[in-house]
Amino acid sequence: WVSLLLFISFLVITPSAFAQKKSIEQRIDSVMKLMTLEEKVGQMNQYSGVWEHTGPITEENNLLGQIREGKVGSMLNINGVAHTRELQELAMKTRLKIPLLFGQDVIHGYRTTFPIPLGEAASWDMTAIELSARVAATEAAAAGIHWTFAPMVDIARDPRWGRVMEGAGEDPYLGSLIAAARVKGFQGKGLGNLDAVMACAKHFAAYGAAVGGRDYNSVDMSDRMLWEVYLPPFKAAAEAGAATFMNSFNDLNGIPASASKMLQRDILKGKWKFQGFIVSDWGSIGEMIPHGFVKDNYEAAWKASLAGSDMDMESRSYINNLPRLVKEGKVPLSVVNDAVRRILRKKFELGLFEDPFRYSNAEREKQNMNDPAHTAAARDMAKKSIVLLKNEGGLLPLKKDTRTIAVIGPIGQSVRENLGFWSIEFPDSNYIVSQWQGIQNKLGSSARLLYARGCGIEDTSRAGFAEAVATAQQADVVIMSIGEKRDMSGEAKSRSNIHLPGVQEELVKAIQGTGKPVVVLINAGRPLVFNWTAEHVPAILYTWWLGSEAGNAIADVLFGDYNPSAKLPISFPRTEGQIPIYYSHFNTGRPALNDSDRFYRSAYTDLSIYPQYEFGYGLSYTSFSYSALKLSSNKMKSTGKITVNCTITNSGKLAGEEVVQLYIRDKVAQPVRPVKELKDFKKILLQPGESKVVQFVIDKEKLSFYNEKLQWITQPGQFDLMIGSSSNDIRLKDIFELIP
Ligand code: BGC
Repeated sequence: WVSLLLFISFLVITPSAFAQKKSIEQRIDSVMKLMTLEEKVGQMNQYSGVWEHTGPITEENNLLGQIREGKVGSMLNINGVAHTRELQELAMKTRLKIPLLFGQDVIHGYRTTFPIPLGEAASWDMTAIELSARVAATEAAAAGIHWTFAPMVDIARDPRWGRVMEGAGEDPYLGSLIAAARVKGFQGKGLGNLDAVMACAKHFAAYGAAVGGRDYNSVDMSDRMLWEVYLPPFKAAAEAGAATFMNSFNDLNGIPASASKMLQRDILKGKWKFQGFIVSDWGSIGEMIPHGFVKDNYEAAWKASLAGSDMDMESRSYINNLPRLVKEGKVPLSVVNDAVRRILRKKFELGLFEDPFRYSNAEREKQNMNDPAHTAAARDMAKKSIVLLKNEGGLLPLKKDTRTIAVIGPIGQSVRENLGFWSIEFPDSNYIVSQWQGIQNKLGSSARLLYARGCGIEDTSRAGFAEAVATAQQADVVIMSIGEKRDMSGEAKSRSNIHLPGVQEELVKAIQGTGKPVVVLINAGRPLVFNWTAEHVPAILYTWWLGSEAGNAIADVLFGDYNPSAKLPISFPRTEGQIPIYYSHFNTGRPALNDSDRFYRSAYTDLSIYPQYEFGYGLSYTSFSYSALKLSSNKMKSTGKITVNCTITNSGKLAGEEVVQLYIRDKVAQPVRPVKELKDFKKILLQPGESKVVQFVIDKEKLSFYNEKLQWITQPGQFDLMIGSSSNDIRLKDIFELIP
């Protein structure tokens, strides 16, 4: 029956889908036949027009004229129906009336702001992450935007790099699932639907491995590291149908990504059969000059186009040089044709040739910007992103009948700090819920809420400490809100010192000195270092930057309406000197097995081998016990599978969710394998006392890796199987053997 049904659906669906596809290709042919070389290169050219900052684009800077002449294929940083419509009208005055594409960095929400991507990654909840991208797409599309420059899927293992906030953390397995979820969320039911925007997987590739965590820096890595760690989330994004990719600022082993044929033509368009187009990063084609790779924009355009960069964002190398390069025979016309075909294909798929104004509907824009369902999704995502790092003596959740609460710290009453980097500014801010406001919303007039700022985020002045201490002394409990300013993590925000900025940790000490129960909320875009707080304060919540519903979500967690379930997607170092520190490292011939075993080991003599908080770590208000690990067999043929069952019990008094994590280690392999690799996880909800059996399946794919020749292989031998509540908190263990 199943195969009969499949066959019938094949007959019904395939011919029409095929016909549609064919007709798009034919329509591209007919447009391209009419295009001059200059018009073709125009499609490969993208400009920015930041209306808010520079005022409207004018005749003086000749952007309008260039659009009218068909020399621009896409614009970025043009927001809102009114502005996009105005420029699209200009495009409709060109000879061939080819519509413009409007792109924008819609990274974690459009108007309704969601947690920063690293925060969302802490939820390990693919449904919620997909929904977050769905909402962002719906709002952005209603504001005339066709294309978001997201998701950023760069693996990042260096918290000094400010852009860790934009990705999903350190792990390729988790990162790949999240990359796919975000692509699906942005693109919804597919391009052509009015609530879908094109996704853009970026930055291709290895941008997250910039030396020293310095943004834009060089990357030097082995092919094996590239394939095993940095490429998987890109492959997942391509497989999920990402319409576009963006290349990256860095060079990879000496070749700038914009000129990398290996990345763009061989891997992405070749091996992975990617049908979309690749946009450069901002000016990255022209930046190959200071990079020392080419001598001028002419050479830059030459190398980048041959390597497969289809669209030039803002470097103007293509528009000024490509026509000549083609005429001189240095760039084959087929290269330009291929790029233009890829770009036009997306314009057709978006339905822009049918109606270039279909995304520009003022009524729809108004309706979509204040949808309560979007607000609810943002609050839900924010709750799920908050990581409970410490909860000594069960201080949390706080009782709702607490009489006097002091909120202390520079972020407690701030509004826009909650939005974080890469958020889109709207002039009004009354839809953003501050942490103070969220607590007030939760408790109403039943509690007395006090506030003292104590210090600024980056200040060195302790002048406000006395007032803060006096305020704390009046309270039954103190909630401290500290962290980074929203522009301290993000693009170009690399920092060598990632300790809590300013005198904030001293403020924590002063308040802790009052003897009052203290809960610390840390708001940041990256893992910060806060050793004293970690050691002395009883309760800590890592709240990242949670978006427009931050205050409500934090109050939900503080007062127990939501039991925290998030787990860190990236390791938190004890200090900068420990960077890079990540769980899936390789062993050495002299591994340090614990902190008392550091003599002549691959460890620092003056520092623990453990991070402050490890990958996968996060507490709950309840506790979970793990038992009854059972493998269907301890031997697995490479053509077979084994099933792994275990039982998880909620052994505490509150309902809660646990992320049950499965790690493996290939004990002996050539080349060697990491000490642990996440291969699966399940997030489950358990009522107090309830038990559930969690099942995992291990197949050949989960045991495969790249050998020295970059072949995807397995090797027979023993594997450790580890199931736990974090990468360091392994509760169940067994061994199985892969047999030929
Ligand atoms: C960033 C990209 C971003 C682009 C457009 C660049 O500086 O690296 O991630 O999409 O600007 O704003």
